[in-house]
Amino acid sequence: MHTYSGLFIDGAWSLSSGQATSNVLNPATEEVVGTIPCGNLEDVDRAVKAARKAFPGWSRTSASTRGAYIQALVTKLREHSQQMAALITDELGMPVQWCQSIQVEGPISGLESYIALAESMEHVSQVGNAQVYREAIGVCAFINPWNYPLHQLIGKLAPALAAGCTVVVKPSQETPLHAFFLAELLESIGLPAGVFNLVSGPGALIGEAMARHPDVDMLSFTGSTGAGINVSQSAATTVKRVCLELGGKSPLLIAPSANLERAVRHGVNDIMINSGQTCTALSRMLIPAERYAEALDIAMDEVSGMRLGDPQDPQTFLGPMCSARQLRTVREYIEAGQAEGARLLTDADAGQRFDRGYYQSPVLFADVNNRMRIAQEEIFGPVLCMIPYQGIEDGIAQANDSPFGLSSAVWAGSSTEAITLGRQIRAGQCFLNGADFNYQAPFGGYKESGNGREWGEHGLTEFVEIKALMS
Ligand code: NAD
Repeated sequence: MHTYSGLFIDGAWSLSSGQATSNVLNPATEEVVGTIPCGNLEDVDRAVKAARKAFPGWSRTSASTRGAYIQALVTKLREHSQQMAALITDELGMPVQWCQSIQVEGPISGLESYIALAESMEHVSQVGNAQVYREAIGVCAFINPWNYPLHQLIGKLAPALAAGCTVVVKPSQETPLHAFFLAELLESIGLPAGVFNLVSGPGALIGEAMARHPDVDMLSFTGSTGAGINVSQSAATTVKRVCLELGGKSPLLIAPSANLERAVRHGVNDIMINSGQTCTALSRMLIPAERYAEALDIAMDEVSGMRLGDPQDPQTFLGPMCSARQLRTVREYIEAGQAEGARLLTDADAGQRFDRGYYQSPVLFADVNNRMRIAQEEIFGPVLCMIPYQGIEDGIAQANDSPFGLSSAVWAGSSTEAITLGRQIRAGQCFLNGADFNYQAPFGGYKESGNGREWGEHGLTEFVEIKALMS
């Protein structure tokens, strides 16, 4: 049981004036695994004031000083990576088989890269009679979702610290525990008071207040497209910078020249990891019509080896959905898909036979038309839409026929062909022939998937103001 009674504000743990608390449930057992304070508007104000007070001092530190704090955090996180992973398995339900490497070690390597990137803040360029400086944007507010909790927090915090910004963080209500643990680690490295502040509570109250706050210079939001639109509207009256990292419905375009077996198996794994609760999940598989039946067989075979169950069991591939609410959403889409005429290939009800936990078994839908709701809307569950196409131009058109443009993938017979196809997909990332995630590469969406970029040098740019001094 993880009990946190205080919020972390101005370098110290303090009670919320509201004194309300909220419980964190383990989605595998439905038992309470943690308690956190539920902050209020006064807490948001206190946190923003602390961040504002700390900003002048922190933003004037040298890049090497900030790099040293980032290095100290990397070291602490490495020392406590198992504890952090266990916490995330408890609050999110991601199986132990994946949790440490994906949810913890990946983000630590991303964090580490900002030690060197901090130095770029000291770069001054000359443009005619102007000297162009890079300065920290100021006080930043972070609103995060629940699905890759540490990854999302580090994706914002690392560049903010490197740039010299101070921050106020609001984690999701479902998976807030990692953020409290991170605050303890930041306290233990002696990060100056007010640089990192943590306020938990409901999005519509705390997130909204952060978005509206006149003393917040920049808002970085990761979550659903609907909530992203809301926070943008709230932030507009103070003309703060708003970076949005939103939903997705990413295609995997399998070219006729592809190794079908490898492509399909890769695609099935990609959507099923974290029970489909991945913003970049390849939820639409576009398959040449002439090889469609073969692709269905391969997908069925791949999914049959994926064990659903207790996330603490090292053999488990799929744990529970993060919450009862998320499970309900997925169940509604499974019904909608069948009503629209898609053909269910798997036993979609296996999870409902568990005694407890929010389990959803893997779902493969065949005969999906890209205009169906299940192919257009983000489901955020282990549901793969398998869609046939007639000729590669049709495949590209269907890949792009989406309101989203977060990620994508192409599998083709050669890397040259994969690059040619990848360039034609309107999305911020495209994984060619099974390529790995890259923590140095820019990450972010086109269209309704957002307007921001995270990670690497482009992620740092979101936290930078540009100043010209003419002489
Ligand atoms: P959500 O939009 O419901 O919540 C995200 C965060 O916003 C939470 O902290 C929530 O409390 C807060 N929030 C909700 N309504 C708000 C409001 N009106 N004002 C201010 N804050 C508000 O999303 P979720 O269910 O937590 O996460 C799933 C979504 O996140 C999916 O759409 C997924 O694709 C997206 N996501 C995107 C990325 C990315 O990098 N593009 C990464 C992960 C998840």
